[in-house]
Amino acid sequence: MSIAERIAQVRAEIARAARAAGRDPGEITLVGASKMTDAAACREAVAAGIDALGENRVQEMVKKLSEHAYDGVPLHFIGHLQRNKVNKVVGQAALIQSVGSLALLAEIEKTAAARELTQELLLEVNIGREAAKSGFLPEEVFAAAEAALEHPHVRILGLMTIPPADADRDANMRYFEQVRTLYVDINAKLFHNELKHLSMGMSGDYADAIAAGATMVRVGTAIFGARHYL
Ligand SMILES: *Cc1c(COP(=O)(O)O)cnc(C)c1O
Repeated sequence: MSIAERIAQVRAEIARAARAAGRDPGEITLVGASKMTDAAACREAVAAGIDALGENRVQEMVKKLSEHAYDGVPLHFIGHLQRNKVNKVVGQAALIQSVGSLALLAEIEKTAAARELTQELLLEVNIGREAAKSGFLPEEVFAAAEAALEHPHVRILGLMTIPPADADRDANMRYFEQVRTLYVDINAKLFHNELKHLSMGMSGDYADAIAAGATMVRVGTAIFGARHYL
């Protein structure tokens, strides 16, 4: 199957899940998680109407930017971002989805201020409280959002999460629902209900994420095929 056919299939499934939840399929943003795919595959996804492409690794993103892999769609950064690489991502990525610490937030603010731009971002929630994973713990998210509001060169558009990989379907669904509750709460209390994005759901669970309220899904394997790790 071609990338275009796979995207059409994912779109159909997104539409089904959205309608089943009484939601408009048009309100779901499909981000192609394009790590470990080449620039040609990214361009194919763009031609097939993907809404955005998301990268995990700064080096790979910089290389593919130089190859015009993302021309025509917004580029998102969705992976763990080290502070010493912030300068390569701010202003290049339309949306940094994976802001999981106050130190990273401050570094993004500093870099965006120096470049006189406003960087849009999502706060990442470590909903499974995993030691090996970055992201704010659920009880830290409110304070993180308040801190972000003090930074004039960043704009929070919502929350992102990746539940623990070993959760079964029910547990996974509960994680999604917990993040949705958090999203609704901070949206009402801090953002006048103007937040736009709740980014959750990947190839294996994006339909469930949509049922739980996701407005943005990040899909890699189901679009680009299995990744071959070296
Ligand atoms: C790779 C990746 C995805 C997509 O994962 P698939 O299971 O291949 O769909 C989504 N989000 C993040 C942050 C990723 O790193």
